[in-house]
Amino acid sequence: MIKPAKRLEKIPPYIFARIDKLIETRKQQGRDIISLGVGDPDLPTPQPIIDELCRAAGDPENHRYPSYYGMKKFRESIAKFMAKKFKVELDPDRNVLPVIGSKDGLAHFAWAFINEGDRAIIPDPGYIVYGTSTLFCGGIPVYAPLLEENDFLVDIDSIDVDDAKASKLMFLNYPNNPTTAVADLKYFRKVVEFAYDNDLIICHDAAYSEITYDGYLASSILEVDGALDRCVEFHSLSKSFNMTGWRIGFAVGGDEIINHFSNLKTNIDSGIFNAIQYAAIKALDDMNYETVNNCKVYESRRNRVLGSLAKLGISAKRPLATMYIWAKTPPGYTSESFCKKCISEADVILTPGSAFGKYGEGYIRISLTIDDVRLDEALYRLSKLKL
Ligand SMILES: *Cc1c(COP(=O)(O)O)cnc(C)c1O
Repeated sequence: MIKPAKRLEKIPPYIFARIDKLIETRKQQGRDIISLGVGDPDLPTPQPIIDELCRAAGDPENHRYPSYYGMKKFRESIAKFMAKKFKVELDPDRNVLPVIGSKDGLAHFAWAFINEGDRAIIPDPGYIVYGTSTLFCGGIPVYAPLLEENDFLVDIDSIDVDDAKASKLMFLNYPNNPTTAVADLKYFRKVVEFAYDNDLIICHDAAYSEITYDGYLASSILEVDGALDRCVEFHSLSKSFNMTGWRIGFAVGGDEIINHFSNLKTNIDSGIFNAIQYAAIKALDDMNYETVNNCKVYESRRNRVLGSLAKLGISAKRPLATMYIWAKTPPGYTSESFCKKCISEADVILTPGSAFGKYGEGYIRISLTIDDVRLDEALYRLSKLKL
């Protein structure tokens, strides 16, 4: 028998695994399954980005090892994007590091800062990577609940003082997956102040900063005065430009933080294919209107889903951002039992809130990454359920 490392044994079993089994059984029976589960854009990557990839892929210059720190041109393009979108001034050589998708960046970030026994404050419910990476490097996750009564913001005042003092890192994610909550600058100011008071680093995941509706525009935590020295922010081209399969994102933050993180990363990976970086430059420099168009599509799907849920008697938050709906589980069900019912009686896959942490219990996440015909079919099937 081959035994895995202890660090793997610390990782809790994945709730998706149980649901996957159910889906597999239904598929084998030849059922027509509609997934509103995963957060993976169905719309294609805009053509100019693909064209730029093809051009750059044909250039032998790009076939060799890329720079560890990303192409200077890409780092400059990132700095320009941050200045244009958030009015955040960055030095492309000191405050910017391209990563192979922000998941990879987020999963490795803790390794540069967390020692055995250090604590990290982690939002619950949240993107699972924050907790697992902390556990992997021997850290202790301190889960901070995202509650509806606090608009799903981490309640800074209720974080235990000893936990705060013993923490090296705090993960944060707005616009938020899965709750769809957004944070304003006033809130970010409070977070930065908390970071200074407790000598910790804020790792803000901004994967959904470009997916916003109803005229809402997301803020960067780096807009706060003094934030740069204490914060890193992860951005991703995945959701913004329908590029999940391309694996490209970037970290921006204080030069010390970026420096230590670069030091770690250069020892793990060998950079990002230059052709993909050229494509990403095209996206950041020229493609803003494409994301606006994406948002309109999600916005119209959002309205469709909210309308149907209301008829079903399921209450849901009206999101200003992300590509999800965070809805209440109907009375009489747990998140998981309701999602199981949806699969077995309607062949519709939803994500149970409990998959994102214990405070996700009582909610379900509905993904808007599916076309109107299938979305309507899914909603029709759900409307036939006896709740
Ligand atoms: C999708 C997602 C990511 C990962 O994006 P990649 O850049 O594709 O790795 C990170 N954080 C959250 C909250 C996400 O939902």
